[in-house]
Amino acid sequence: MNAIALVRDIWRGAQLVARHLRYWCPACDSMHGICIEGPEPRWSWNGSLDAPTLTPSVLSYLPRPDGSRETLCHHFLTDGRVVVCGDSPKHPNESLPLPPLPDWLVSESATSHSDDAP
Ligand SMILES: [Zn+2]
Repeated sequence: MNAIALVRDIWRGAQLVARHLRYWCPACDSMHGICIEGPEPRWSWNGSLDAPTLTPSVLSYLPRPDGSRETLCHHFLTDGRVVVCGDSPKHPNESLPLPPLPDWLVSESATSHSDDAP
């Protein structure tokens, strides 16, 4: 069974520019890749892949043409559980355990190492 979270190094050429924590979100059914080392915005991570905690909360949104934001997912990741905020469109105020990562995400994260060629 796959882990529930993994760390992915983001390289630009031969330079390590950031480190992301990736997990599959049971609230919005998609992957979140959260910056834990590198440029802002950056989250504080407890260093655990078995029971990860990130602070502050994670908010993903779509900008609307009128300048406002449509919230797609807003949650806290605490001890390996997604605690969904009340303003999230799906599963508001629920606490959901992180599921194992999908196979494609694990293999993609292991094999691709350069996002932006210089
Ligand atoms: Zn989500």
